[in-house]
Amino acid sequence: MNSLILNPGREKSLLHRHPWVFSGAVERVKGEPQPGETVAVRDSHGAFLALAAYSPKSQILGRVWTYRESEMVDANFLRARLARAIGLRQELAKVTDGMRLVHGESDDLPGLVVDRYGDTLVIQVLSAGMERWRDTLADLLVELTGCANIYERSDAEVRELEGLPARMGLLRGALPAPLVIHEHGLKFYVDVEKGQKTGFYLDQRDNRRRIGELANDKDVLNCFCYSGGFSLSALRGGARSVLSVDSSAEALALARENVKLNNLAEDRAQWLEADVFKSLRLMRDQGKSFDLIVLDPPKFAPTAHHATNASRAYKDINLWALKLLRPGGLLASFSCSGGVNADLFQKILAGAALDAGVTAQIVGRFAADADHPAVLNFPEGEYLKGLLLRRVE
Ligand code: SAH
Repeated sequence: MNSLILNPGREKSLLHRHPWVFSGAVERVKGEPQPGETVAVRDSHGAFLALAAYSPKSQILGRVWTYRESEMVDANFLRARLARAIGLRQELAKVTDGMRLVHGESDDLPGLVVDRYGDTLVIQVLSAGMERWRDTLADLLVELTGCANIYERSDAEVRELEGLPARMGLLRGALPAPLVIHEHGLKFYVDVEKGQKTGFYLDQRDNRRRIGELANDKDVLNCFCYSGGFSLSALRGGARSVLSVDSSAEALALARENVKLNNLAEDRAQWLEADVFKSLRLMRDQGKSFDLIVLDPPKFAPTAHHATNASRAYKDINLWALKLLRPGGLLASFSCSGGVNADLFQKILAGAALDAGVTAQIVGRFAADADHPAVLNFPEGEYLKGLLLRRVE
């Protein structure tokens, strides 16, 4: 078997079960492995550390399949991993038929994302290793889930880093139209072809439910609303009014359709196609105020390199949102940036409150729902964080 030989002392992260082999840690590549080929990773003395998928174009030269030398990476291996990931999600089926079945590294399946929307699966193949097994994975997923339809959304930017072109299209079956999922009793149209990510922000499921519970009798502002997840939850929770803002006309159209689909009060819902950065300032100028504000912006900092600009952007929207809150009002503020950790995010919000001249308390914390777990040995998997702040005065 071809192998990656590490520099002296660089085996530490693998011994701690961190599944990435960075190119800087590799002294040499033994043999001429193909992209995606399974290789052995060995320390500088030749001792076995792991089996990994080789990705020559990426800074992550290897992604670990297993730390056991005796294992074979084949269809049976993948079946067992997929079956485990799917089995761990069974509880969630009580509240939804839309869920992430495979969350990459956190499910020991590096570079693979599988989302289930009813009887349709959407897969994202994000690494050279997974690319090699794409067809086998599609067959195994049909076998294990009973879902006949698989659509591929391998259009995430990270594929470029692996030297892989974007690819989208049907892999198995057909696409049901329309595609509707159920989440905590609400229905949502999901556009897996043109929607964002794989079509829906599944990770916010439980946070949407919590916001619904806080919304009764409140004037709510939902910024970056996409297909209306938080807005619908707030409307069902008895909100007096819900103003939803997004820069995407398609997203807003979908959100309005979703309100209709659930027979929720359309007269309590207002929609604004605008840039949140500008509209928050404008609302302040117009003297508007709210009891509950949700800020769920897109990823401002994919990696730590972007942290400075991202911090500025987070501070800005939070500062203006805090100013728009009535005393006693709540701000649910999220960040899905891997490059901004929970500590930094809290510091940014503290700075925003200070500059807004507002005193605020932390009264709750948010994370991604259970189908987006983060394993302890892979902290990079913990990307979504949020704070629930209460404006005291
Ligand atoms: N809260 C949503 C997910 C939000 S995703 C849910 O629960 O489903 C982020 C959204 O922000 C996207 O819909 C995107 O169109 C929108 N967006 C990105 N930049 C924006 C900006 N500057 N102003 C307004 N909306 C923006």
